[in-house]
Amino acid sequence: MHDVLIIGAGIAGSACAHFLARYDLDVLVIDAEYDIAVGTTRANSGIVHSGYDPEPGTLKAKYNIEGAHMYPKLAEELGFEFRKNGSLIVAFSEEERPAIEKLLARGIENGVEGLRIMESEELHQKEPNLNPDAVAALWAPTGGIVDPYGACLAFAETAARNGVVFRFGTRAEDVELKDGIWNVTVSYNGDATDALKGTSEVLQARIVINAAGLDSGRLNGCASKAEDFKITPRVGEYLLLDKAHGTAFDSTIFQVPTKNGKGVLVSPTIEGNLIIGPNAVVRESADDTWTTNEGLAQILREASKTWTKIPSWDAITNFAGLRPTCVESPDFHLGEPEDAPGFFNICGFDSPGLTAAPAVGKDFAERIAEKLDATEKAEYIDHRDAPRHIAKMTDEELAAAIAEDPAWGAVVCRCECVSEAEIVEALRSPVPAKTADAIKWRTRAGMGRCQSGFCLPITMQLIAKEHGVDLADVNKGRDGSFLTFGHRGCFDRLPEVEMGGAQ
Ligand SMILES: Cc1cc2nc3c(=O)[nH]c(=O)nc-3n(C[C@H](O)[C@H](O)[C@H](O)COP(=O)(O)OP(=O)(O)OC[C@H]3O[C@@H](n4cnc5c(N)ncnc54)[C@H](O)[C@@H]3O)c2cc1C
Repeated sequence: MHDVLIIGAGIAGSACAHFLARYDLDVLVIDAEYDIAVGTTRANSGIVHSGYDPEPGTLKAKYNIEGAHMYPKLAEELGFEFRKNGSLIVAFSEEERPAIEKLLARGIENGVEGLRIMESEELHQKEPNLNPDAVAALWAPTGGIVDPYGACLAFAETAARNGVVFRFGTRAEDVELKDGIWNVTVSYNGDATDALKGTSEVLQARIVINAAGLDSGRLNGCASKAEDFKITPRVGEYLLLDKAHGTAFDSTIFQVPTKNGKGVLVSPTIEGNLIIGPNAVVRESADDTWTTNEGLAQILREASKTWTKIPSWDAITNFAGLRPTCVESPDFHLGEPEDAPGFFNICGFDSPGLTAAPAVGKDFAERIAEKLDATEKAEYIDHRDAPRHIAKMTDEELAAAIAEDPAWGAVVCRCECVSEAEIVEALRSPVPAKTADAIKWRTRAGMGRCQSGFCLPITMQLIAKEHGVDLADVNKGRDGSFLTFGHRGCFDRLPEVEMGGAQ
């Protein structure tokens, strides 16, 4: 019997885990995938929104503002990357000026600090690459950029250090309230531990947090008949440009919002790339995260209104994320339905969910601690050192690290300058990386211009050695996404081909 069972280890579930870890409670986090943040959390714009956009009085407005306030301190305490670079919402003609004035009024009503209209001369001085047609912009100095995966990892690792258990490859199939206790039927897939793989069981908890993103509507339907949230996956596609263009803009540049949302942005990322996107198109299922020619062409076309000379040839990758949107009632749906006491929903958690997550996590933790009459732990680790990266070390720091362990001097990823020691640290994390993708997201080995062409074989060897598995069993992501051609049974899955003499 657990006190709290959290379904989903994205930013919402991990933030809840982080704040609950402060209390003397048994907390288990389960996730169907092989790592934290495999869902929407790692595929978004990475903006900490200032809060001018949500309708006043909504949960989105409340938690956006609170979350944006929390990010700078949390980033410092928990060692993840965040920069308050500010956002500009640009009017490209006088016809668009009323729209930014409306956003200014809305932002003031929501309580956003420092908002003002920036006129043309100052605007172009600040952002010289901006389309010369821009006439004015709403300046939101409290907007920021963050590493969403890094923030989620920081929450998860701090929670784990304080006793929260994370179990991957664990899918919540059904949820039912029996005699005041929540029974969660789970199935264990190939990403679960060997002892659990292929089995299922019923986990029991006094409280359940439904932070299952795109599956949160289905799980709410299992727990409650009072409210029905249909979650529609709405894709947002992106292009990521090489770091050579990471300083083309200093602030995050938005266009005037449309009925489909905040529109296509052009923004530096916290890692120093430039990101362009997203669009907003409804997709059939939660697995439909592919990109399309039309989608990428659309975002390029729309973004060229912001930056007329986008160097599209320097896009190093493209990707897509799915918004878990509740189309019928587009606010967040948070907390206990009236017929499901102890079942805390985080449903319809689309933008600005990344921004809002810490505020929702803190609020839920306080409400749950009160409900369970929980006290704060006598000993609680409230600080996490930022993971060390040689790319960010001074010469002296690097020399000291190599003196401590020569693995700090063994460069594995040349594009992003990642050493063997960084990869080993990620493999030994309190929430350990198990796959090549998990290493990529934690260390950036494979994130650079060559997109892992050079570093992958060494990364695989390190994973195999550290976790004691056969090299052929190392996965890219989910179980079965093997990286070597010689995996057992791999040849069975290949189409029949005529083999020549040299096999
Ligand atoms: C294109 C796009 C751009 C965005 N830009 C921004 C932005 O700039 N700023 C901002 O504030 N917000 C932004 N958002 C919104 C933000 O990304 C989301 O609000 C946030 O990531 C949602 O986090 P989550 O933890 O609720 O969901 P997820 O990250 O999807 O996590 C849910 C987790 O639950 C797991 N899971 C699902 N079903 C089950 C099950 N049955 N059993 C067990 N585990 C399960 C999944 O594997 C997943 O890990 C954007 C979203 C998109 C798609």
